[in-house]
Amino acid sequence: TNSYQVPHSDHGRSTAARRRRYVSTLFQNFGQNQPKDLSSGCRSHQLMLYNDVVAHCHPGGLHLLPFGQRAMDKLIRIIDSEMEAAGGQKISMPTLAPAEFWKKSGRWESTGDELFTLKDRHEQEYCLGPTHEEVLTSLFAAVSPVSYRRLPQMLYQITRKFRDEMAPKHGLLRGREFEMKDMYTFDVDEQSAMRTYEAVCDAYCRIFDRIGVGYVKAQGTTGNIGGSLSHEFHYPAKVGEDTLLLCDRCGLQINKELADGVVREELCKEQGVECRLTETPAIEVGHCFYLGTKYSSVFSATYTDDAGKVRTTHMGCYGLGVTRVLQATVEVLSTERQLRWPAVIAPYQVCIIPQMEGFEEELYFQLAEEISDQLSELPGLRGEVVIDDRTQFTIGRRQYEASRLGYPYILILGKKALQKPSLIEVQETSTGETSFLSREQLMNLMS
Ligand code: ATP
Ligand code: MG
Ligand code: MG
Ligand code: MG
Repeated sequence: TNSYQVPHSDHGRSTAARRRRYVSTLFQNFGQNQPKDLSSGCRSHQLMLYNDVVAHCHPGGLHLLPFGQRAMDKLIRIIDSEMEAAGGQKISMPTLAPAEFWKKSGRWESTGDELFTLKDRHEQEYCLGPTHEEVLTSLFAAVSPVSYRRLPQMLYQITRKFRDEMAPKHGLLRGREFEMKDMYTFDVDEQSAMRTYEAVCDAYCRIFDRIGVGYVKAQGTTGNIGGSLSHEFHYPAKVGEDTLLLCDRCGLQINKELADGVVREELCKEQGVECRLTETPAIEVGHCFYLGTKYSSVFSATYTDDAGKVRTTHMGCYGLGVTRVLQATVEVLSTERQLRWPAVIAPYQVCIIPQMEGFEEELYFQLAEEISDQLSELPGLRGEVVIDDRTQFTIGRRQYEASRLGYPYILILGKKALQKPSLIEVQETSTGETSFLSREQLMNLMS
């Protein structure tokens, strides 16, 4: 007979059991960075540090810890689905960008100190891509001219961008390295490029609608990217480094940078209406540009028209600061003491807190696992439930920590949970409401 022993493994455990997550095993709840004076600083950054969502590495360089990474992955899924629905195709370009591309566009010089530059062993110069107009347009040029039938083309990536910011600030809001979604589009002419521009702006609106935090779409500056038309997406917030001019009468929404030097009243659209412009600080989170032929003419990104003539494509580019959106939403929603997430990107949806050790601990624990397994079967909740198994701590303390971390739902298994009928205390973070529900009512609420 074969005496070989199968090593101990959890292969025998049910799928649900293997999916369970216990707080004691998470890289979480170290509480190293006590928030300082939250009334003056940037509360989202301090709360994200304190709650181990991010950690400091160097100025403008942060670690995304598991909770931060989970939230970002969810945000990326929303962005991907809307970019694909708009016709986008995802790619990934090298971060190292040859200096020759950037010299060709003139931006090697014009970008100035924000560009991180380096040399390889053969003394060839590169920059770490802060944006990818040059690299992507030369990719398109390599397959040019393409048939007009194949346009528009909409290519995008979600990658790290590098900018040697003069003043990195407020954690993920202004890093020197950050995650950006950047899309680049190619059309046959201005008219069709404008339709693409509108389609991508609409996709941005859908992304921001799905996130669910109030935003403003404003006319923006074209800056060093160039082009003739641009719109920015902003979250109004005190820590924002941009200023928006908003008129509640004529509907004007414009970045103050763009309005500088213009007589304020002349900005308003409707003549004869006395306008009422207010200034609002805001965080720029997205930026759409119509580029025209600025890059396509330099790099020869071309197509053949129906008569076989080679023509220059009309381009657009569209940036979305993924890590900046992540923190900006938290900045808008959080209180001074508690992290608040848009529900769709909260790292976990549910935290279950069973009674403290001693009081029929095993029964409470068993119930917690049962509820966790049952919830995990619901669509949208797979992998979204954690059990705070640190039963050495009181329910009160664990509840406080869970609330500080901003789980959308906190379930407390106290005495009433073991009585008949069994009642679970459900705290809904977004409303601040607490209710006692039967298991069936809980499942209905969560499905
Ligand atoms: P800002 O005015 O804040 O410096 P920008 O106008 O230079 O931003 P864009 O070149 O328009 O930025 O880049 C597209 C998007 O990338 C921005 O709308 C923003 O969401 C994000 N972004 C830009 N710089 C940073 C940064 N340093 N850290 C995090 N996100 C950034
Ligand atoms: Mg900038
Ligand atoms: Mg800007
Ligand atoms: Mg911008």
